[in-house]
Amino acid sequence: MNFAASRLSVVKPSASAAVSATADALKAAGHNVVDLGLGEPDFDTPQHIVEAAYQAARAGQTRYTPTGGTIELREAVVAKFDRENALTFTADEIIVSNGAKQVIFDAFMATIEPGQEVILCAPYFDIYKTMTSVIGGTPVTVQCSADDQFRLTPEALEEAITSSTRWLLLNLPSNPAGACYTKDELRALGDVLQRNPHVLILADEIYEHIIFDDRDFVSFASACPELRDRTLVGNGVSKAYAMTGWRSGYGAGPAGLIKEMGKVQSQISSGSCSVAQAAAAAALTGPQDHIEQFRAAFERRRNIVVDGIAKIPRLSLEPPGGAFYTLIGCDNVIGAATPDGSVIHDDADFARFVLEDGHVACVPGAAYGLSPYIRFSTATSDENLIEAVSRIEKSVAKLTLRDGINA
Ligand code: PMP
Repeated sequence: MNFAASRLSVVKPSASAAVSATADALKAAGHNVVDLGLGEPDFDTPQHIVEAAYQAARAGQTRYTPTGGTIELREAVVAKFDRENALTFTADEIIVSNGAKQVIFDAFMATIEPGQEVILCAPYFDIYKTMTSVIGGTPVTVQCSADDQFRLTPEALEEAITSSTRWLLLNLPSNPAGACYTKDELRALGDVLQRNPHVLILADEIYEHIIFDDRDFVSFASACPELRDRTLVGNGVSKAYAMTGWRSGYGAGPAGLIKEMGKVQSQISSGSCSVAQAAAAAALTGPQDHIEQFRAAFERRRNIVVDGIAKIPRLSLEPPGGAFYTLIGCDNVIGAATPDGSVIHDDADFARFVLEDGHVACVPGAAYGLSPYIRFSTATSDENLIEAVSRIEKSVAKLTLRDGINA
């Protein structure tokens, strides 16, 4: 029996799920696997946030909330944008959803006609592409290169825009490349968008607080105020407050767009979990000091990987400016033979080899639209990262390159 509607044909088995399955099998067989596949902070949600949820539940905040979120949380989001991004929104320009993912889904579902295009910057967060396709849109991928620190250039944007373009999706800083943009770089993209008034802009800023080397984070909406009437900022508490499981995200944009998104959400999930919304409000309004602690830990871990990989011949790396992933270029091991004689044809083969030989689980770049790379998540302990780098070094040393020279 085939249970899947044809719209699901675009949902391909995820490469990260395949890696996880092999990693789980190895763990079950008693191997010590270092898992660098996961994309979530390894920290616990700060206690005052957990306490706020508990208090909300005890106080009877256990009923349906307004579809777009409680007024307390929407006001907390308004205050956050004012405090951190110098952006003025009103509560009717905010929607609260079950994570930033649902913000994107609501927006795409509400606005995309069949065949309309969404411009994605590869390497991209894989669900952007699937979501676009499931909704009937057409993903248009712009390949961003390591030479440009994986940033979208105004020229490439100009080239990608057609009369069918509905959205440009930007991710600042990006998963998986950690690409960051200065205000001037965002403004240069804004100039192109000014000339193309039919294009909406979704800026996914979920990693805004995880940013390195003293960079200043600039929200797309504050860099390009003239585009505010067609910009949706997506964000949430998952990454900055170690709250992935609470499923609380928010979007900020023109009231008309937020209203249409609310129609989608009202038919699917209604308002998100009441207790999680109380927790998210406490996160946004309470003490903020752990944000810097988390950020500093991610920067230290990024440095462990950057320094370690730099010492491994045949692998390359562009230091990410933010987020908690590192993309490692494996161009120079493609075509190499493993000790059992099989050939590494692509990054999926390399990720498999690293997992089977070195027991390090990571995700091939193909999953994010960019090959040949592997993605390390640095959302794990320093010890795990040091161990992972050392194992990868040993595994790579076992490869025989095509010309017979050891890697
Ligand atoms: N956007 C990006 C770029 C992400 O990497 C992730 C999580 N991996 C999300 C959104 C999802 O965030 P949330 O937990 O708020 O749905």
